[in-house]
Amino acid sequence: MLYLSSGIDNISRVGKATAAKLKRLGLFTAEDLLFYFPFRYDDFSQVTRIKDLRSEMSANIIGQIEMLQSRRSHRRRMHITEAIVNDGTDSMKVIWFNQPYISKSLKTGDTVSLSGKVDDNTGIAAFLSPAYEKISRNEPIHTQGFVPNYHLTSNLTQKQIRFLIKQVVPLSKKISDWMPSEVIKNCKLLDLSTAIEWIHFPKTASEIAQARKRLSFDELFLIQLESGLLKSEYTNSKAEKIEFFENETKNFVQSLPFKLTNSQRKTAWEIIKDIGKDEPMSRLLEGDVGSGKTLVAGLSMLNVALNKKQSVLMVPTEILAQQHFNTLKRLFGNLKIGLITRTQKSVSVTEDKPTIDYIIRNTDVIIGTHALIQEKINFKRLALAIIDEQHRFGVEQRKLLIEKSGIKNKVPHLLTMTATPIPRTLALALYGDLDISIINELPKDRKKIQTHIVPEIKRGKAYEFIRKQIEEGRQVFVICPLIDFSDKLGVKSVKDEYEKLDKVVFPDIPTGMLHGRMKAVEKENIMRDFLENKIKILVSTSVVEVGVDVPNATIMMIEGAERFGLAQIHQFRGRVGRSSHQSYCFLFTDSNSEKSLDRLKSLEKVNDGFELAKIDLKFRGPGEVYGTAQKGFPELKIASLFDNQLIKLAKEESEKIIHQDRFLNKWPKLKEKMQNWRDQFHFE
Ligand code: ADP
Ligand code: MG
Repeated sequence: MLYLSSGIDNISRVGKATAAKLKRLGLFTAEDLLFYFPFRYDDFSQVTRIKDLRSEMSANIIGQIEMLQSRRSHRRRMHITEAIVNDGTDSMKVIWFNQPYISKSLKTGDTVSLSGKVDDNTGIAAFLSPAYEKISRNEPIHTQGFVPNYHLTSNLTQKQIRFLIKQVVPLSKKISDWMPSEVIKNCKLLDLSTAIEWIHFPKTASEIAQARKRLSFDELFLIQLESGLLKSEYTNSKAEKIEFFENETKNFVQSLPFKLTNSQRKTAWEIIKDIGKDEPMSRLLEGDVGSGKTLVAGLSMLNVALNKKQSVLMVPTEILAQQHFNTLKRLFGNLKIGLITRTQKSVSVTEDKPTIDYIIRNTDVIIGTHALIQEKINFKRLALAIIDEQHRFGVEQRKLLIEKSGIKNKVPHLLTMTATPIPRTLALALYGDLDISIINELPKDRKKIQTHIVPEIKRGKAYEFIRKQIEEGRQVFVICPLIDFSDKLGVKSVKDEYEKLDKVVFPDIPTGMLHGRMKAVEKENIMRDFLENKIKILVSTSVVEVGVDVPNATIMMIEGAERFGLAQIHQFRGRVGRSSHQSYCFLFTDSNSEKSLDRLKSLEKVNDGFELAKIDLKFRGPGEVYGTAQKGFPELKIASLFDNQLIKLAKEESEKIIHQDRFLNKWPKLKEKMQNWRDQFHFE
């Protein structure tokens, strides 16, 4: 008997190995599986007759296997399984590469459902490596109707996860709906159980749309409710007035090796004006990667220090904390700067290992990670809290940071920073409690990063180019979509690429590897070696996405680029081009779909993060993809940031709820959900 709370190990046919992989995806219970939503669907809702197939068509056919044989092709070093399938209207050829087990699971005479794309490059129309499923008593789930596709980071197959989810879907009936019934009625939403059932195995496109609407609404509603509740607490509080030290600020700006951009000046001034009031500031600073947000924040921190008060800067990773610590130490020689992470405690002016308490008492600026809110820290005179890469933190975490300023009856001013390109109107709608400053230009000396999609046959050339750059003293990032090898053919993993580059391609060049599953200390060491130019090539997952600054790196090479959102690739690309050297971004893709190439091509032309986010949405379009355009917003699993209507609806409804009862006592289930939702935010 399965329950929502049953561990995944209790689902039939989940072996130890599979369970371990699921756990790595954060899936521990049957309920977790239910809330692991597909990110797109293959539309095989129509069964096509073989005689109606045309070349390049994606289709599902059902027919009987008339012939099946396997062989090894020595010339191409491949295992090939060939079949002829007949559906009564015609027969066609089917070929699978390197899937030797197929000849064991299928045999002549079986009826099969096949889905894939018709290829006629060889002269005869054939299905190449289509998804297949034997038709028997079981209802087909892999090749017919709308077939869900899930994001898989461990080496699990779509088939495995679909099979598991199919088993737990009946449990969705047991999910209790926490949404107040008046909201459901006002917004014409599905009940939660039905939405969960339909999101996994929809029968029609309309079922997908309805399920998505409900589940997206849930996310947007919770964000707005949270931010509305925060606002209602914050509005009655007071903050410290920070006096503007004009001369000192001017002197500092003049001492910089570069001139501030106009946008930097403007936004810095907006912030400085804001913190001069006793009303707490709540402001979002938006600016593309490399636009110089840190310095803008630095100017306000300088003024806070001159007012004998403290600032804190919270960042999402240890590497980033270390980096900001070093940068600010260099820029603001006169300030005492502290660093607090899970593994490190330092102060800029002493060599000793200080205690947290010492840091709190003796610094002007504290830089830290989640450790700042996890460890029991009581600030003494905190006047300004800054959160970098704001999307990595939940509202609850913002709240924890600003709760205790240590100054009687006061809360700190709050500045959040992000490189995620959200238009002003949207940001206002989503985070209604924030004012917004936008940096809309890059420093003048920046050269445009030359971006190229590199076809596989030119891979060797690309490596030669990389070698030349390294000989000239430069460094290289290589980004891969996965950590481990995946059994999905062709998807590059960090571990494999690292082995290949380190042992085969560049055996004479120091190469390092970085991924999220490494210990924090290991990550630190690798990153430090890269910063100090001891490592020349860094093979990494998307963990380098946020913030890290290695000006000497000039090449960003991305494997499996089709698996990333455009705005995200733009973020990766922002890791290079940080010095006066010309920089390059090389995109490799295993996809040869024209659409996918066109999408990536926009990176060759467009150099604006927001523009790219919009293009991504257009390409992947409603009905095919959601959840990728807002890659930078991990707290949104399914809702789209571009769905203005739904955002507006969620905002109105959440305001009505807050208006009726700020403590949510009227809706105990909603209250409980809110609590769990807050707890769900990931910690590093
Ligand atoms: P981001 O907005 O992505 O956080 P950073 O604050 O890390 O950008 O700045 C990127 C780099 O640009 C840093 O090395 C910083 O010192 C430099 N920088 C900041 N402002 C300017 C400027 N006005 N001119 C030239 N370089 C600048
Ligand atoms: Mg930054």
